[in-house]
Amino acid sequence: MSALALKGGPPAISPGALDLRWPHLTDGEVDELTAVLRRGGFTALSSSEEHVAALEREFAHASGTRYGVAVNSGTAALHLALIAGGVEPGDEVIVPALSFVASAMAVLQARAIPVFADIDPRTFNLDPADARRRLTSRTRAIVAVHLHGLPADMAELRALAASPGLLLVEDAAQAHGATYRGAPVGGLGAVGTTSFNASKNLPTCGEGGLLTTDDSGIAEHAAALRQFGEHIVAGQDRPYVSEELGWNYKLNVLQAALVRIRLRTLAEVTSQRQIALEGMRRRLAALPGLVPPYVPDDRTHAYHFFRFRLAPDAAGLEVAPQALRRAIHRALVAEGVPVAAYQTVPLPAHPVFRNGRGSGQSPAAERVDDVPVTSAVLADSLVLQRGLLGADCRRAAELYATAFEKVWAHLDTVMSYARALQPAPTTATTRR
Ligand SMILES: *Cc1c(COP(=O)(O)O)cnc(C)c1O
Repeated sequence: MSALALKGGPPAISPGALDLRWPHLTDGEVDELTAVLRRGGFTALSSSEEHVAALEREFAHASGTRYGVAVNSGTAALHLALIAGGVEPGDEVIVPALSFVASAMAVLQARAIPVFADIDPRTFNLDPADARRRLTSRTRAIVAVHLHGLPADMAELRALAASPGLLLVEDAAQAHGATYRGAPVGGLGAVGTTSFNASKNLPTCGEGGLLTTDDSGIAEHAAALRQFGEHIVAGQDRPYVSEELGWNYKLNVLQAALVRIRLRTLAEVTSQRQIALEGMRRRLAALPGLVPPYVPDDRTHAYHFFRFRLAPDAAGLEVAPQALRRAIHRALVAEGVPVAAYQTVPLPAHPVFRNGRGSGQSPAAERVDDVPVTSAVLADSLVLQRGLLGADCRRAAELYATAFEKVWAHLDTVMSYARALQPAPTTATTRR
């Protein structure tokens, strides 16, 4: 076995060995998009415009819901899901402390108050028991995020939402193609939201989003809100009369057309990635001190991110998890594995959520140390994504696993490197 790249050995994966482009447009896709451009009819209300409405139908069908409402981002979808679902200014909305910032920012945009609940240490998703503890008489909704592509504990969250009559929103922006007890995400709560941002598993050539629901009231309301609050009836002339505060959240035709093309192969692409990443997961599970993603038997993982934790204690390794993480991070990057520390602080540590900055009303300033599991996960985990979404996924997963095995074959060297590193600078997890 050659020396670690960190110590001057040859890297396990040579530069350029993998195609890391994502999203990557095929020639066929470029041709189809060119045809859309040549055809014209770019306004969402244009009679020649068919792609937006067709995407709504097709995506709703794939999600097992009756209605789909296309918008121009996942954040816009969340914003409208909350408002159309009845969230009003000053209401409290439970949001997991670990997610992309939009899951909670949309709550502020609805002039409601995000109340952060902790996550489960194995699934990284909202912990239903902790969410229950955060309920108050002002709680109006719960946002369940299927983080990194793994569906949240929807049965428990549905039960939690049922009796007080809370709106249950699924943020499925990272989970295209994932299933929970055999059913696709997006149809498991009152309303589901997704994103077609170019970085997601179902990417367009820019921005896009969509909300899915079985509730005709929510669908109609969301459709009005994306169009300046105008109530437009299909087949009738646009009235140009705004009934309420709305936004311009309409989806661009070209973006819709590309998502439609990609939706045709989503199931196949997802299952290829699942096979490749399950293989990598099994190999990494054999490495002492590494905890690969956990996938409960009743759901499938869409693997938007592959997050693994470092648990040196459990493996009898005498080094602090943070120190080991820093050493492993550097060793893997040197070998050509593009791991990263994605999300550095729990959501409640973002200044926008503190001291009522975003909402103008002071929430019971959620304390960052009130989400210890989130803080622990952020301190001892790394994520891997690049190379795993694209066409080279299978080869990438194999090469990455081999590089991990190489690093672990030199664990003594990595451990002494970890001990020699300065302690990590204090992060916002300790800030008040
Ligand atoms: C990307 C993402 C969003 C926001 O989607 P945009 O289309 O980028 O606005 C919301 N929630 C989660 C979990 C995401 O990953």
